[in-house]
Amino acid sequence: MKIAVLKETAAGERRVSATPETVKKFVALGAQVAVEAGAGASASFDDAGYASAGASIGSRAEALNGADIVLGVQGPDPASLNGIKQGAWLAAGLNPFGAGENGGRARVDEYAALGVEALAMEFMPRITRAQSMDILSSQSNLAGYKAVLDAAGEYGRAFPMMMTAAGTVSAAKVFVMGVGVAGLQAIATARRLGAQVSATDVRSATKEQILSLGAKPIFVEKVAGIEGEGSGGYATEMSDEYKAAQAELVSSHIAKQDIVITTALIPGRPAPRLISDAQIASMRPGSVIVDLAVESGGNVEGAVAGEVVEKHGVKIVGHRNVASRLASDASALFARNLYNFLSAFWDKEANKPVLDAEIGDAIRLTQGGKIVNERLLG
Ligand code: NAD
Repeated sequence: MKIAVLKETAAGERRVSATPETVKKFVALGAQVAVEAGAGASASFDDAGYASAGASIGSRAEALNGADIVLGVQGPDPASLNGIKQGAWLAAGLNPFGAGENGGRARVDEYAALGVEALAMEFMPRITRAQSMDILSSQSNLAGYKAVLDAAGEYGRAFPMMMTAAGTVSAAKVFVMGVGVAGLQAIATARRLGAQVSATDVRSATKEQILSLGAKPIFVEKVAGIEGEGSGGYATEMSDEYKAAQAELVSSHIAKQDIVITTALIPGRPAPRLISDAQIASMRPGSVIVDLAVESGGNVEGAVAGEVVEKHGVKIVGHRNVASRLASDASALFARNLYNFLSAFWDKEANKPVLDAEIGDAIRLTQGGKIVNERLLG
């Protein structure tokens, strides 16, 4: 059983899919691990660390040669996988609904044509036993933290209230929109920095969580027949009536905020638009908005992926791939997600992982030269 760890090639991607810690654990399971030279460099893991954990270091072709499992953070360019073993597994964040060069349906077709079994780690079902394998949670958590630090960096004022001999500095008012994994961490981080925090979501279950973190819930009162929670704990698309009520509530609240962090996503659909240009104009100059959903279409009007733009004196931060901005920790958690996944299914006698149907069917995109995943076929 040979596991290959590839150097990421996507623009701006600094993470790596294995660390010396997980290499050591794979070796202890009985696997042979081959790491492409320099794979961990941008996440501060050097080749020597992988080598002393038991990996061989070599070129991409050497790592891929005879590999049974190929690990990645993002899906590798199919052209760079030529010669890969038929039936080899490719486990990474494959972004099959994405657009552009690092995802999308066409790329899944190419993986099928190569004869690999492509496993989309972001399709991991939201069940208790898979929590430790969930790359969306581990990466969102860090992104929520980093979003607050990015906001603090752009903000020309302080977060905590400070009483000084020269007078008092008032606490920043931070509003978090979308209280999933990233939003909860954003609330906790802003609280730790001493801000006055409020938050909103369409799932009413989040109210308790907001309160338990010491923040104030801002919620639309019940509109008949609305419950924002769909399958797997994810949000559903809301009615026009709800959206109008939410926009009105947000408008009055947002005008009084210094920092807004938006994290709202709806799986398989463009991100919901939560903040309009008029609402941005109502904020005081110097305020900062961070749009964590910018790569999925954006929650904020005028946000630009990969840029910090200024509108009406308000900075709108649209960094791409925010987890990669904390490459070392993000890699450590991503790598553990992959290890937890493969080791949970490791069959000692066969010396390889054997997936069960519940998880295998959810994450397997291609097999035997064809697309086999319901979410792509349906
Ligand atoms: P997500 O990234 O899909 O979305 C972020 C948040 O945006 C969600 O809370 C969503 O409700 C909210 N949102 C969507 N539309 C909105 C709108 N119009 N206005 C305001 N908010 C809006 O969510 P997530 O971080 O993946 O978490 C969703 C839920 O799944 C959470 O309850 C989380 O705890 C749960 N979860 C469970 C597991 C597991 O059991 N293995 C793993 C991860 C997450």
